[in-house]
Amino acid sequence: MAWLPANPLAARAGIPDSREEGLAYLGSLSRGLILPEMAEAFVDTVGELVAWLEADTPLRLQLIAPYPDYHPERPGGKPGGGRSVEPELFPVPRLGEWAGRMVGAVRRTAVSESPMGGGTGVLAPDVLAARDADGLEGGGRGMIAALLRGCLDAGIEPVTGARGVELVVEDGRVAGVRLEQDGRSEVVRARSGVVLATGGFEWDAGLVRDFLRGPIAHPASVPTNTGDGLRMAMRVGAALGTMREAWWAPVCVLPGRTIQGEQEVYLVNRERTLPGSVLVNRDGHRFTNEAANYNALGGAFHTLDPATLDYRNHPCWLVWDDACARTYGGFGRGEGEAPPDWVFSAGSLAELAALIDVPADALVATVQRWNASAERAEDPDFGRGRSAYDRFLGDRSLDGPASTVGPLTRGPFHAVQVFSSTLGTKGGPRTTVDGAVLDVDGNVVPGLFAAGNAMAGPTGMVYGGAGGTLGPALVFGYRAGRTAAATATAATPGPARTGALA
Ligand SMILES: Cc1cc2nc3c(=O)[nH]c(=O)nc-3n(C[C@H](O)[C@H](O)[C@H](O)COP(=O)(O)OP(=O)(O)OC[C@H]3O[C@@H](n4cnc5c(N)ncnc54)[C@H](O)[C@@H]3O)c2cc1C
Repeated sequence: MAWLPANPLAARAGIPDSREEGLAYLGSLSRGLILPEMAEAFVDTVGELVAWLEADTPLRLQLIAPYPDYHPERPGGKPGGGRSVEPELFPVPRLGEWAGRMVGAVRRTAVSESPMGGGTGVLAPDVLAARDADGLEGGGRGMIAALLRGCLDAGIEPVTGARGVELVVEDGRVAGVRLEQDGRSEVVRARSGVVLATGGFEWDAGLVRDFLRGPIAHPASVPTNTGDGLRMAMRVGAALGTMREAWWAPVCVLPGRTIQGEQEVYLVNRERTLPGSVLVNRDGHRFTNEAANYNALGGAFHTLDPATLDYRNHPCWLVWDDACARTYGGFGRGEGEAPPDWVFSAGSLAELAALIDVPADALVATVQRWNASAERAEDPDFGRGRSAYDRFLGDRSLDGPASTVGPLTRGPFHAVQVFSSTLGTKGGPRTTVDGAVLDVDGNVVPGLFAAGNAMAGPTGMVYGGAGGTLGPALVFGYRAGRTAAATATAATPGPARTGALA
């Protein structure tokens, strides 16, 4: 998904939105962290970006019409959606030999067809068979495949498995990058510029310790995101920005499962929104609106208790009852099924508290209080269910806050430990609106650009809506590429790869 305010797809569908509303929304959430010129460049480029994608690449976007913004009641927010888009299904076999080099889970459905998008998520057998036969995919793989096809069509062949380790600087200009691959070193020269797109630094414990505003555990991204681009930028004197922020996300671990040698995690989003579930900290107390968007929830994990100088809310526990489990499923289980066997379960709340090492009297009192207010379908403590967003991932067959506020009454009761994680960090070199890296004195570092999570996040601490990371990444990646291409220098003619192996 990609979050694109005032996008032409919404306009074509007659959904009202505007530049002014997009900027008002971001501004209302900025807390002084969003640079106005970056917000303006983001919103103002959305139309051009979509037109370019449609003209020059096979990527086609479609609206996920009802997906609300993540803070829809803020000025300029959209409770009824219109800003979140996704790729149309793409035939991955069109990639030829590159199809087999794609990683990640295959999705034959679009988000629009899932319960989130207002569909059932279930395909008729003949439809599924046809999509299998055509290799049609949505989601992240669908988007990447379409963009990769666009690159290949333009004669751009990616190099994989090579690690960029050092920028090559000549006459004050970044002229290339040194790669390492299979124990060999190679310098690749840049005709137009070097774009750092190495993701965040969430897998480097030292950078996490030194820069992030609060604790994280078990990042959800690829473990190769170790901040290499950040270090390269720092070595050439880049100014840094948004370093304390990340795209925060609550996760639980999937015991015994690894990806690329690291712990596999599960994003805990729908489960904490369903009626009949609460989050409690290690003291057995609720501490937040559980149904808030995952990025904002990071703030609740990062609350520091001044008395103990401790993050009492991290990690925490999701507790839910068997009625919730059986009605909605969750954690990979369908309706009517029991939770996975790695979930803690006990016949009573007191027994569950003993299993998860939380004070039993506190947990029982917390659930009693929650159940009493749930009878009135309200959460006087944290306002769960007041926002259209809170209700979106809950039980939409129930009206109002009841779609997410419901009691825990029927044992057995279940619990899973939940960690503050991240989809990726947001800090990196500060850039111009066109992605050109700035040095500590505010001057452009000639020849160097940054995009995606490697650049100083243009949206500060904000996750605007579904696709809030990829929307800005598409826009500023497009702007950086366009600018780099326009400033192609005659100083580095000839083949891009000099083949200087050492
Ligand atoms: C399960 C999941 C679902 C998500 N869904 C969405 C969604 O629907 N919408 C949305 O907006 N966001 C989503 N996100 C977040 C989104 O995927 C990331 O924010 C986004 O991929 C960041 O893009 P990027 O290109 O900056 O970095 P990445 O996609 O992290 O890519 C960085 C790449 O750089 C490589 N790299 C690192 N160092 C080097 C080096 N030295 N040399 C060469 N290569 C290097 C890494 O191996 C990696 O492949 C999701 C994340 C997860 C984990």
